[in-house]
Amino acid sequence: MHKQDSGVGLGAVSFVGEMKNQSKVCEKEVFMERNFDVLIVGGGVAGMSAGIYAKRSGKNVAIIEKMALGGTVGTLNQIENFPSQASVDGFTLAQMFVEQVKKLEIEIISDDILSVEFGGDLKVLKGKKGDYRAKKVIIATGISYIELGKNEEEFLGRGVSYCATCDANFFKGQTVCVVSRKGSGIAEAKYLSNIVKNVIVLDEGDMIVFAKANKVQNIEVVSNVSVQKIFGKDAVEGVLCNQNGKEKKFVASGVFVALGRKPKTDIYRKKLDLDAQGFIKTNENMETSVSGVYAVGDVRAGVMKQIVTACSDGAIAGKKACEGV
Ligand SMILES: Cc1cc2nc3c(=O)[nH]c(=O)nc-3n(C[C@H](O)[C@H](O)[C@H](O)COP(=O)(O)OP(=O)(O)OC[C@H]3O[C@@H](n4cnc5c(N)ncnc54)[C@H](O)[C@@H]3O)c2cc1C
Repeated sequence: MHKQDSGVGLGAVSFVGEMKNQSKVCEKEVFMERNFDVLIVGGGVAGMSAGIYAKRSGKNVAIIEKMALGGTVGTLNQIENFPSQASVDGFTLAQMFVEQVKKLEIEIISDDILSVEFGGDLKVLKGKKGDYRAKKVIIATGISYIELGKNEEEFLGRGVSYCATCDANFFKGQTVCVVSRKGSGIAEAKYLSNIVKNVIVLDEGDMIVFAKANKVQNIEVVSNVSVQKIFGKDAVEGVLCNQNGKEKKFVASGVFVALGRKPKTDIYRKKLDLDAQGFIKTNENMETSVSGVYAVGDVRAGVMKQIVTACSDGAIAGKKACEGV
């Protein structure tokens, strides 16, 4: 679950200073002259895992990160499903990755990659501060969740979540709402129904036929509702909605926003094969439709979007990218 006051700020505490210093050496003219064996775009857990494996293969590797190492994990409150850690806060877990990256002396470049050229033997990444060239590129830029756009920020880490797989266990025996658009929250609702007491799906569309055909005992599907705001004092106490012009209150201790996910792949459109949602397609070696370009973690068209799978992707790509370099 996200920390209420998180943002990258917490994840950034210990390394933002270092990145500021590094940005001094990231002047365009310096990097224009430099080529890398492997460049990784994105310093979340997928990118750092790829970096660890590539660096340990003895290659000239750098991670380009636009905000702070740690990515999403650095902002999470509590993680209970990362093997070896029964319960750990995201900042602590992210720090362990960062320590390893530092120990291996993997170069960190503070920049935001804005466009790419994958046509030549050397791939070119064009950032705000400079252009970077590499024999192999690993994309690890993650995703963003589609927000409700109401007051959910207020309750992040205090009952609002974007991920049922991650946070369902915190609501055992309780009632939760799933905010859905044209059925986007049904899969999350079904997952939650096995763990929580009751699930109320609040959908903007007409779900009456669907609800009849797919009856689950502890799931109530409410059609044609628009969420006005989440209410509560210290934590979520419920959701205030509008249904056909009338105000309606739903009492719940959790709200799962399930409006969909957006991969950060705009700059790769027309350059790489993407799936219908914009996730980057890869083969089992994490290689994309362009030879020498890999995609790992949440940005990849994969079955799961979790820390452990992001690490696995990173390990495979980090190793494979070094072959023949
Ligand atoms: C609320 C929530 C709770 C979660 N709880 C769990 C949990 O309990 N257990 C679990 O296993 N998983 C959990 N997850 C999922 C987990 O956080 C992700 O699967 C994991 O962080 C993916 O890592 P990543 O490296 O692929 O992406 P990210 O962590 O998103 O990292 C991507 C990085 O790329 C950088 N970047 C993006 N674009 C650029 C660019 N153009 N140039 C340079 N850098 C760029 C970003 O700044 C970011 O640092 C949760 C997710 C959320 C949102």
